[in-house]
Amino acid sequence: MTQKKKVKKQILIYEKDKNVLKFLKSFFRTNDVYSAMFLKRDKDNLRKQLAKMRPGALIVSSPDGLQHMSPTEVDCPVIATVSTNVTDGIRSVVKSDIEYYLLSPFHKEELEHKLKLVTEEKSWIENLYKEKKDLEGIVDLLSLISSTINPQQVLYLMVKKISEMIKVTRCSMISIDVEDQRYASVISTSESPEVTNLKIDLQKYPEIKKVLLLKKPVVVKNASRNPIMKEVRDVIESIGIRSLLVIPVFFRDEIIGTLLLRASRSENPFTKREIRLCTAIANASANVLYNAFLYNKIEKEKTVFEKLAVTDFLTGIYNIRYFYNRLEEEFSRAGRYNTPLSCIMVDIDYFKKINDTYGHRIGDIVLREFAQLVKGYTRKSDIFARYGGEEFIMLLPQTSSAGALHEAERIRKAVKENHFKALKGESEITVSIGIASSPDEKIKTPDDLITLADNALFTAKNKGRDQVVIYPAL
Ligand code: GH3
Ligand code: MG
Ligand code: MG
Repeated sequence: MTQKKKVKKQILIYEKDKNVLKFLKSFFRTNDVYSAMFLKRDKDNLRKQLAKMRPGALIVSSPDGLQHMSPTEVDCPVIATVSTNVTDGIRSVVKSDIEYYLLSPFHKEELEHKLKLVTEEKSWIENLYKEKKDLEGIVDLLSLISSTINPQQVLYLMVKKISEMIKVTRCSMISIDVEDQRYASVISTSESPEVTNLKIDLQKYPEIKKVLLLKKPVVVKNASRNPIMKEVRDVIESIGIRSLLVIPVFFRDEIIGTLLLRASRSENPFTKREIRLCTAIANASANVLYNAFLYNKIEKEKTVFEKLAVTDFLTGIYNIRYFYNRLEEEFSRAGRYNTPLSCIMVDIDYFKKINDTYGHRIGDIVLREFAQLVKGYTRKSDIFARYGGEEFIMLLPQTSSAGALHEAERIRKAVKENHFKALKGESEITVSIGIASSPDEKIKTPDDLITLADNALFTAKNKGRDQVVIYPAL
């Protein structure tokens, strides 16, 4: 078995005294724990090298070397050497608040001991610093969670924060469908605030499936070689993902989601610290994720209910209640801005015969087909609704009677030429259409507009059907 080569800790040395230098050189030459870099004497050089090297420790002579640096600037432990000028040297050490110093004559064991103390202290401090950063991050996240912004926004800020705290390519919050565990939804991803509910097939995410099975975090190192990822190796490789971390989010003993972290690093997989941090965040996010789930569900139901409330059940177009609401609005707007407003009333000719020939059920299907056909001829601003039975009504804002006539003729022809599927193209359907437009001296209320369109329709029927009539007759 080959022995792994140990990386030596780097020590930066800033020393003038020849004897001390000689001692240090011989000490480090044979040392297999530390390697040394000796600096030539100049102040900027020391600063620069400290920033560049980030050494495990600095050995510096006192008092002269210490004059060139302020201990607060140095973020590594310092060992001072005191040789010729002992009184000033020690005074300077005390003044600079340096804890470790070596007094000439030097002993190898003493230096070894001091180096061990300071370098261990450094890694301790570094760990404490990281933990402090993590705690600060968690405090930030907790204040986010208790804020009043909507859960979707909270989740986005959360995954964003995690991706800043831990070096990852992407951090996402996945919501698991408790009833159908084949699918899940990306509720939030650090990549884009736009993603709020992206359905995914868990067949393509074996790492998530594994978490659902084990009910605990899963770390995947070296993703392209890991047997868990066998099925999706090509995809993972093509997007450069090497490490994955998946943490379950529990709500009342049930996994309602997962945090999914993907990184391109291969040598340093997720550390214990990172896993611990993400688990803490996952625990804290359970309520938010559940709220986001409820929020999405309510939003979806709200849209469905809103749509149902304005839709005619049989034909799928607007119902008359919605039409009247919009009529009020559009009528007063047209009055305010002095713009034309037209109303088209459409009645299917001899529809009774369709029912008698094909039955009421086929009649229903024809009505739906008819409504959808006409709807295709409307503009976005037009409001097309079922008035009742086989009678339909359309409101055309900012349209004069000439414009409405054009529209009505298009509709009349389209219906006549259409082969209705339910009738297998056997019978043709025609319509009679009446139009009324405001402004007109006879139209003072929204109801007047409808009544006059209805009168025009009555004229069209009397004149032999399959035609359009404008009120007042042109
Ligand atoms: P015209 O308008 O040309 O005078 O003749 P028509 O036969 O269309 O008119 P009428 O008013 O006499 O009859 C309307 C028919 O429409 C009778 C009714 O059964 C049918 N009808 C109304 N609502 C529905 C419905 O929801 N489904 C079905 N299948 N038929 C309907
Ligand atoms: Mg009719
Ligand atoms: Mg009718």
